[in-house]
Amino acid sequence: MSFLLSCPNCGPRDVNEFAYSGEVTTRPAETPDLRALTDYVYFRRNVAGVQREWWYHRFGCEVWFLAERDTRTNEVLRVELPGRGDEATPAPEPAIPDTPAV
Ligand SMILES: [Zn+2]
Repeated sequence: MSFLLSCPNCGPRDVNEFAYSGEVTTRPAETPDLRALTDYVYFRRNVAGVQREWWYHRFGCEVWFLAERDTRTNEVLRVELPGRGDEATPAPEPAIPDTPAV
């Protein structure tokens, strides 16, 4: 599998320069019940379509960023640094991945 992924700092690069760290998740409430905690830790949506994901430019500028990628075609629709939503629609606070994929 190879495709181009555009780093917000460095521009388009081969995907092998990056580490994928999973889809963006939302942390549950401060005192989640067991069901909510289990869902957060073990389950992912794993959509066949566009999903927001965490990526790390490990062989480049070493920045974490978000990408919207179509999982069916690997087409990357958008990349952004976290917390850079515009004023009208601020970006939701994404959960920082606990263990980056290597
Ligand atoms: Zn970079």
